[in-house]
Amino acid sequence: MLLGILKETAPGETRVALLPESLKALLAQGIEVAVEAGAGISAGAYDAAYQEVGAGVTADRASILAHADLLPVVNAPSAADQALLKSGAVVIGFLRPLDAPSALATAIALHVTLFSMELVPRISRAQSMDALSSMATIAGYKAIIDAAGILPRLFPMLMTAAGTIPPARVFVIGAGVAGLQAIATARRLGAVVEAYDVRAAAGEQVRSLGAKFLDVDLGGIATEGGGGYAAELTEEALNRGRDLITRTASHSDVIVTTAQVPGRPAPRLIRRAAIEAMRPGSVLVDLAAPAGGNCELTRPGVTQTLGGVTLMAPMNLPAEVPVHASQLYARNILNFLALIVKKDQIAVDLGDEVLAGACVAHKGSPVNPRVARLLESAEALG
Ligand code: NAD
Repeated sequence: MLLGILKETAPGETRVALLPESLKALLAQGIEVAVEAGAGISAGAYDAAYQEVGAGVTADRASILAHADLLPVVNAPSAADQALLKSGAVVIGFLRPLDAPSALATAIALHVTLFSMELVPRISRAQSMDALSSMATIAGYKAIIDAAGILPRLFPMLMTAAGTIPPARVFVIGAGVAGLQAIATARRLGAVVEAYDVRAAAGEQVRSLGAKFLDVDLGGIATEGGGGYAAELTEEALNRGRDLITRTASHSDVIVTTAQVPGRPAPRLIRRAAIEAMRPGSVLVDLAAPAGGNCELTRPGVTQTLGGVTLMAPMNLPAEVPVHASQLYARNILNFLALIVKKDQIAVDLGDEVLAGACVAHKGSPVNPRVARLLESAEALG
């Protein structure tokens, strides 16, 4: 059995799906590994390091695509790459099956089995495969570090002979995985932190990190959807959150916003008035940019200065920390592979709820019902 590791081609992508140290267990099972030359360089893994553990390195990308039985990737291969895959191969990665299902059509038609790391069920047994959480942790950390880097103020309170400097005030919107890491990082740097989330359950976690949880009376509506995620709110409930955000923005030096509702565009929570209320020099990092952004002024991927306030909308912060992002991702991938590689053979058991949940397509047909519906409507349209 051959496992292929490609050099990622998406603009700005620096991560690699598996690092040399992640290969040892696979090689020990007798699995052959072919790595595209340069695949790990941005993540600190040179070709020689892959060769040292026993992998082959080749510049022939097409041959890896054509021969690999298993292809762990960070991002979905392009249609041209998919066209080279062999029937029955298994591709695993951030395949964006809910945002861009049609982009997977070539592989599905070729009877390639596709597993999406975004769809791994968030149940206890699959925690070690939860790549969304791994990447959100990195994004939350990096958002605070980036904001601290450009804020014209210090984060910690300092008492010096030249006077006392007050601590920075940080406001985190959405206290999920990324938000909690942003809170923890800002607290470690000495900031005073406030946070807001629609899920009441987030309050306890926010307080346990030493931050203040801002409550909004949403009139008793259900704010939790399934699986611990937020539900999509009514305009009226959203407006109550927007008012709180505008009020809190006026005394915040940094806002990190992470609010998302799975499968929906990010809720627009931050009005222009909130940006206008912030002091010049303040920073807002919109981590929801890939889903459209939480701020009505956000332009995904673009950093803007608006009345002296910096509004950042990064699309791929984990790629700015490629070593550790790849390390965590590789671990998630390895744990996932353990479910489908048995005694150096691929065995896809869709009776396993983790595999069934994460499976986009198998033997030419969509498996995940949401993806199936999206593909059907794309076909009907096109
Ligand atoms: P997410 O990225 O979907 O959203 C980020 C946060 O935004 C969430 O906390 C959400 O409640 C919040 N949000 C959504 N709409 C909002 C609004 N209008 N106003 C304010 N906040 C809003 O969430 P996530 O980081 O993926 O985590 C979601 C939940 O899943 C959390 O409860 C987390 O603890 C849980 N989780 C469980 C597991 C597991 O059990 N394996 C793994 C990861 C996360």
